[in-house]
Amino acid sequence: MKELWCVMDWAVPGLLGSRIHFKKQFSDPVEHGQRHTATKRELATGRKAMQRLAKMMSGWFLRRTKTLIKDQLPKKEDRMVYCSLTDFQKAVYQTVLETKDVTLILQSSEPCSCSSGRKRRNCCYKTNSHGETVKTLYFSYLAVLQKVANHVALLQSASTSKQQETLIKRICDQVFSKFPDFVQKSKDASFETLSDPKYSGKMKVLQQLLNHCRKNKDKILLFSFSTKLLDVLQQYCMAAGFDYRRLDGSTKSEERIKIVKEFNSTQDVNICLVSTMAGGVGLNFVGANVVVLFDPTWNPANDLQAIDSTTRRKQPIPSSLPPGLERAVWNSFATF
Ligand SMILES: [Zn+2]
Repeated sequence: MKELWCVMDWAVPGLLGSRIHFKKQFSDPVEHGQRHTATKRELATGRKAMQRLAKMMSGWFLRRTKTLIKDQLPKKEDRMVYCSLTDFQKAVYQTVLETKDVTLILQSSEPCSCSSGRKRRNCCYKTNSHGETVKTLYFSYLAVLQKVANHVALLQSASTSKQQETLIKRICDQVFSKFPDFVQKSKDASFETLSDPKYSGKMKVLQQLLNHCRKNKDKILLFSFSTKLLDVLQQYCMAAGFDYRRLDGSTKSEERIKIVKEFNSTQDVNICLVSTMAGGVGLNFVGANVVVLFDPTWNPANDLQAIDSTTRRKQPIPSSLPPGLERAVWNSFATF
């Protein structure tokens, strides 16, 4: 409601009165009427306020959704591809599952061994030997397993928080002590070896997809949440001889515009690696007809927002574009 007032007051100053007036007359009654615990009176007052508000805004507020122009847009096809782990990934995954911490997590809801009748996590097994709580471990290990599933090399990258970093480093040291070859390789050849698809089942599938797209002359946006993963994918594109561009949070705005222009207009540049976090001003990849999300996050809304903010279309794709595996089309019509 606050945002609505803000937008309307900018567009039509004074239409909804002062912010305090608006809160008292509209947002409070509407919000109270929507509570689970609302009384019949509150519900009625809320509805009335909503009707008055709708009437006041009716001359200024237009609702337009994509369905209006749906028939003018090419079809968009969404595909979820499930990729099996490679043997190496499976071995690492299994090693993670066999750690003491994971055993602690898995048994945490069982009755405690001291016969107190309480669950283990609320009794004698609240933390591991490093003092980390089951709850902390739970999320850390979810993150670790997700990294293993995307690409084993991600385990060696820094985490978001200091506490996580120490924990994940310890987990990794423990896990990788069983794979000395891999550690040596990743030290020796930096990423060159790691871009080898045998370290990631998703990379194997991606390899096939990219080769297929190359034949089709598709234009691909390859999204990743992690810049470390973008490094790996970039190495792969280099090794495979693709002409690509890369855009992430550290790309300067002039450079961004140049990259987007090149991608949209040049026949030779068919892949652009984009960080899911890079969204924002000046990104308008109208040339793309295939979008690949390498590592979806837990929250699908994040991914959609990233794609939407970089692939807005002012008009339908021209029919001269080559047919692709997936045609991902978004438009710039605002949906309120
Ligand atoms: Zn106990």
